[in-house]
Amino acid sequence: MRVVILTCYPEMFPGSLGHSIIGNALENKKFSLEIINLHNFGIDKRGSVDDEPFGGGPGMVIRPDVIEKALNSIILKTHNFCKIFLTPSGQQLSQTKLNNLSKYDEMVILCGRFEGVDQRAIEILSFQEISIGDYVLSGGEIAAQVLVEGCIRLIPGVLGHPQSLLEESFSNNLLEYPHYTRPKNWEDTQGNKHEVPNVLTSGHHEKIGRWRKDKAIEKTKNLRPDLLKKGLNDE
Ligand code: SAM
Repeated sequence: MRVVILTCYPEMFPGSLGHSIIGNALENKKFSLEIINLHNFGIDKRGSVDDEPFGGGPGMVIRPDVIEKALNSIILKTHNFCKIFLTPSGQQLSQTKLNNLSKYDEMVILCGRFEGVDQRAIEILSFQEISIGDYVLSGGEIAAQVLVEGCIRLIPGVLGHPQSLLEESFSNNLLEYPHYTRPKNWEDTQGNKHEVPNVLTSGHHEKIGRWRKDKAIEKTKNLRPDLLKKGLNDE
């Protein structure tokens, strides 16, 4: 996958995308990352990209002509591309949405700043509006890294254990079951002892599977009952 980011803060990339599993994927060319500085397409020598909002109000708005010029500088190589504008007022990102986005060959992501972006640019240049959650950040750069990381880890060959994609949270409208590791009997600094659930050390795979499923349902009921309403796929 080819990822192209339009931003006022190019120095914020690759950021988290340069580390760990996603950093390895970048190094191993499972995806490419191009960063375009919107200031290079600014309207004056200072590279200004924004102006006051019509109708008044606080903050500045990124101009549509700047975005159009920046977008026109990208030569898309396929027809299988998407254009995304990250905004709190967009459609909320989900695992299902990430699954769909990960199938594109090219992804252009526009990061907003200040009050946002002139609406004409979003509509005329056909950006789909996506939010990473019901809260407001100062800019789209962290949101872009969230979206790209979420997509890239779904590309075959990126994760060492592809099986983990099948069992992790949201894969079946469930949160994932809890995990435990060594020590089997942990004594905390207060002297209290905490054992790992016996079933996990029983070696009985069927029982372990059933226990994990029950725990996943229990956790989902407690923390995200809205997910259970969508129904489990394997029953
Ligand atoms: N005035 C906007 C509003 O009320 O919806 C908020 C603008 S925010 C301060 C500046 C930029 O940060 C946005 O244009 C967007 O690119 C990014 N941003 C902030 N929160 C976001 C979120 N939850 N999801 C995606 N992008 C976000």
